[in-house]
Amino acid sequence: MLLKDKIAVVTGAASGIGKEIAITYAREGAKVVIADLNLEGANATAAEIEKTGAQAIGVAMDVTSEAEVETGMAKAVATFGGIDVLVSNAGIQIVAPVDEFEFTKWKLMLAIHLDGAFLATRAALRQMYKQGRGGSIIYMGSVHSKEASVLKAPYVTAKHGLIGLAKVVAKEGAKHGVRANVICPGFVRTPLVDKQIPEQAKALGISEEDVIRKVMLKDTVDGEFTTVQDVAAAALLFASFGSNALTGQSLVVSHGWFMQ
Ligand code: NAD
Repeated sequence: MLLKDKIAVVTGAASGIGKEIAITYAREGAKVVIADLNLEGANATAAEIEKTGAQAIGVAMDVTSEAEVETGMAKAVATFGGIDVLVSNAGIQIVAPVDEFEFTKWKLMLAIHLDGAFLATRAALRQMYKQGRGGSIIYMGSVHSKEASVLKAPYVTAKHGLIGLAKVVAKEGAKHGVRANVICPGFVRTPLVDKQIPEQAKALGISEEDVIRKVMLKDTVDGEFTTVQDVAAAALLFASFGSNALTGQSLVVSHGWFMQ
C-alpha cells in the first residue's frame, strides 16, 4: 500500500475525478476526507469507501469561503489527527466568449479555482509545517493550464495560475518536505464535461458529436477520452513520491492532446 496511514483531503470529491482519487487513495491505505459543496454527495462517497473497510468522512466545504475551508480542514485534523496530502480539485466550468462574459461569472470561476486552491493550500501548509513530516499538495490543473480554447477565458486563466501557485508552494514548502505539483488532464467524461457538450454545440453551431470529435478530442493521438482512473493514477504518483525530487511539476495526462 503506497499511502498506508496517510491522511488525505480531496476537495470536490463528491463527483468525477476527485471521487476516483479519493477511492484510489483509500485503496492504497489512506484515510480520506471528502470535502465538497455537495455534502450529500460527499457523504455518499465516504460511505462507498467505508464499505471497503477503509476510513473516510464527508465534510461540507465551499472552497471559496475562508471560514468553511478553515472549519473543514480543522474537522479533518480533529477526525484523523493530521493532513499529509491535499488534492485541490474542486472546479466548475462556465463557457462564453470574452466579450459576452458576465463579470460575476468571471469572479466566481476565479474564486473557485484560484481562491479555493489558495485557501485549502494555506490551511494544509499550516498543518503540515506544524506536523513536521512533510506532505504533498496536488492541484487539478488541465490541458488548459498550458493551452487555450475559445469560450473558456476564466478557466484557462485560472488553470494557468495554478501552475504559478504550485511553483511557489514547491519553493516555500521544500525545507518542510512539502511538495507541490499539478495534474493537467485532457477531457474526462464527468458531469463537468457532459454539461459542456450541448453548451458548446449551441455556442459553436455544430452537433454534439462534432463537439466531441472535432473540438474535444481533435488533437489527441487516438481520439480517446482520458479516464478518471488515468488521472487518479497520476494523483497517486504525486501523493506517494518519496522526496523533493518531484516538485514544482505539471504532468499532462491527455492522450497526447498537449505534448510538452
Ligand atoms: P465534477 O463536476 O464531476 O466534480 C466537481 C466537484 O466539485 C463536484 O462534486 C462539485 O460539487 C464540487 N464543487 C464545485 N464547486 C465547489 C466549491 N465551490 N466548493 C467545493 N466543491 C465544489 O467535475 P470533474 O470533471 O471531476 O472536475 C474536477 C476537477 O478536474 C476540476 O477542477 C476541473 O476543472 C478539473 N478538470 C476536469 C477535466 C474534465 O475533462 N472533466 C479536465 C481537466 C481538468
